[in-house]
Amino acid sequence: MSTLRFHAIKESLNRKPIEIEEKERRSAMFGSNVFNETAMRQYLTKAAYNSVMDAIKNGSKIDRSVADHISTGMKEWALSKGATHYTHWFQPLTGATAEKHDAFFETIGGGLAIEKFGGGQLVQQEPDASSFPNGGIRNTFEARGYTAWDPTSPAFIYDTTLCIPTVFVSYTGEALDYKTPLLRALQAVDHAAVAVCKYFDKNVKKVNASLGWEQEYFLIDSALANARPDIVLTGRTLLGHSPAKGQQLDDHYFGTIPNRAMQYMKDLETECMLLGIPVKTRHNEVAPNQFELAPIYDEANLAVDHNSLLMDVMDKIADRHNFKVLFHEKPFAGVNGSGKHNNWSLSTDTGVNLLGPGKTPMSNLQFLTFFINTIKAVYDNEELLRAAIASASNDHRLGANEAPPAIISVFIGEQLTNVLNELEHVTNGKLSPEEKTDLKLNVVGKIPDVLLDNTDRNRTSPFAFTGNKFEFRAVGSTANCANPMTVLNAIVAKQLTEFKTEVDALIDKKDMKKDDAIFNILREYIKKSKHILFEGNGYGEAWEKEAKKRGLSNNKTTPEALKAKVSKKAINLYGDLGIMNKVEVEARYEIEVEEYVLRIQIEGRVLGDIARNHIVPTAVKYQNVLIENVKGLKEIYGADFKKLAKEQLNLIEEISRHIEAINSNVTTMTNERKKANKIENANKKAEAYCNKVKPLFDKIRYHSDKLELLVDDELWPLVKYRELLFTK
Ligand code: ADP
Ligand code: MG
Repeated sequence: MSTLRFHAIKESLNRKPIEIEEKERRSAMFGSNVFNETAMRQYLTKAAYNSVMDAIKNGSKIDRSVADHISTGMKEWALSKGATHYTHWFQPLTGATAEKHDAFFETIGGGLAIEKFGGGQLVQQEPDASSFPNGGIRNTFEARGYTAWDPTSPAFIYDTTLCIPTVFVSYTGEALDYKTPLLRALQAVDHAAVAVCKYFDKNVKKVNASLGWEQEYFLIDSALANARPDIVLTGRTLLGHSPAKGQQLDDHYFGTIPNRAMQYMKDLETECMLLGIPVKTRHNEVAPNQFELAPIYDEANLAVDHNSLLMDVMDKIADRHNFKVLFHEKPFAGVNGSGKHNNWSLSTDTGVNLLGPGKTPMSNLQFLTFFINTIKAVYDNEELLRAAIASASNDHRLGANEAPPAIISVFIGEQLTNVLNELEHVTNGKLSPEEKTDLKLNVVGKIPDVLLDNTDRNRTSPFAFTGNKFEFRAVGSTANCANPMTVLNAIVAKQLTEFKTEVDALIDKKDMKKDDAIFNILREYIKKSKHILFEGNGYGEAWEKEAKKRGLSNNKTTPEALKAKVSKKAINLYGDLGIMNKVEVEARYEIEVEEYVLRIQIEGRVLGDIARNHIVPTAVKYQNVLIENVKGLKEIYGADFKKLAKEQLNLIEEISRHIEAINSNVTTMTNERKKANKIENANKKAEAYCNKVKPLFDKIRYHSDKLELLVDDELWPLVKYRELLFTK
């Protein structure tokens, strides 16, 4: 066994769980490191407090003079908690979070120093931003961007740093991060939804989008993970034969959480409590060493920040417990991958969940309005939604028989399917009083406030209605939720705006009653968008054929899927809603295409290295052992040796065949990479990486995995799947 593998296994076997004691009740800990309402009441002047609350609730601007008061209060609070530094915390387009820490400490001459944090430092900062991706928006000579405080997401203390959530924009105003377009999309859906709500309740002033994510991940012993160059450099295994036991016994899902993992989770949850991330559930997932963590849902912007923060915190706490967290969508072949379901809904400031059926026919009509408009929005923009979840790593999941396919469809369950079928046949034009009574009593009025499908649902659907929310299930586990949330809220905003225009037109021009008009438009929407509704098995081949007939897209790879991001339709959508201009949209597209290329390029290089430097030499070593053995047999048995050495001779030849195949495929892969690198056009280059380079990974892997089965375990250099996945 290679010394690295030997020591890694030994180290992992000797691990003791780090027992975590929970000293305090979670409710008492919750949010104590967050500058939340309670802390603000204590540390801010009345005027400063009101100004922040007004910014949060109504999006009003904070006056610069008030900002000075706020920063002073925030600093006092942070110092009382032991903070020494502050940072503007933002989400650049790398997908990770970024921060640059500055000390509060400042000298004031005469050998004296104070802690200082002014309004200016709170509100705006100028990080040296030249090395963040910008898709060509900022030329490097004017490599300036600035971060600006987002008061809707509260400041928090992590470790000893006060973190201030911010947006990141260029000096010319273009968004350079994930948060800016998200905030704009949330504002758009707020305005559009409030206008529609007024048909039902004049008191509604604000509509919030909510998000409840479910984060899946793997926990691998850090010594074992570090002994695998592919995991270290790419976050996944590029090689490795499936273990004799995988997930076929289904004994991991919801099983007892192994103690070491349990202690990790306890530690993590404590940190989440302090940071105000309301984590609620934890359980084992389908694959061995795979787990899931989910919070109580929150306002979407805050929930997105919480998820980004959580992923950071998970990494840091894992270090303490000698684990490595794998967020990759498919870290192990033959074992289930990870996703991040995005549960989404809209709710009013009057406390109504717009995607929850109500108790009266009128509230149900409101529910149906938002429900059907969402379906129509998804139908009209299915390709854009698909593009929002495209990444090199998520390509391994979508359509790979374990996650939703690359075809976007909507599952609504039998009860609501029946309701839509009835509504589809509503009379065109004005409704007679009898018809309306019948509709209200027997169709709309019959929707129960708890839907059956809440429990009994189709897990193969990428976009499922689950009783009082939609669940976007195709989001990848590594994704920043801001991306899919921006798209979803944007398309619904656009749809609701159109709906309002169409209903108003019927009321004004055709002199229709409000609910007649609503029924009429909803009927049209059901007719137009029912092709997106699918209740069957989304994993089946039959669905691919059926979806094609229905005209739905099936963009299986990232380069193919991303094109929808820069379609005329997408550019108009974002432009009309004021979410992104053409430059911003194109820049993002460019960044994502480039990121795709880089990921595949790195994987290709790592795979080539491991195959040539680890696998082939090991195979040769073992082959030499066999050759020695054959030589010895010949020496002892003379001419009879062939009978005795038959299997060894076969093995020697088989090993040679695999070595040959690995070498030739690595050479081909390297050549294809070189060819791809010469392509100027970004998308064509990505396509070359996708269609010419990547397919060779499987070939190389196939032969290497065969060798893993043939070669003496003692010689094998890489930590094996059974060791990675079953160490507790
Ligand atoms: P699973 O998909 O694992 O069976 P659930 O469907 O119960 O789990 O998912 C629950 C998730 O949905 C939680 O994160 C929860 O906070 C979230 N959720 C519940 N209601 C809403 C809502 N109105 N808006 C957004 N998310 C919600
Ligand atoms: Mg779920």
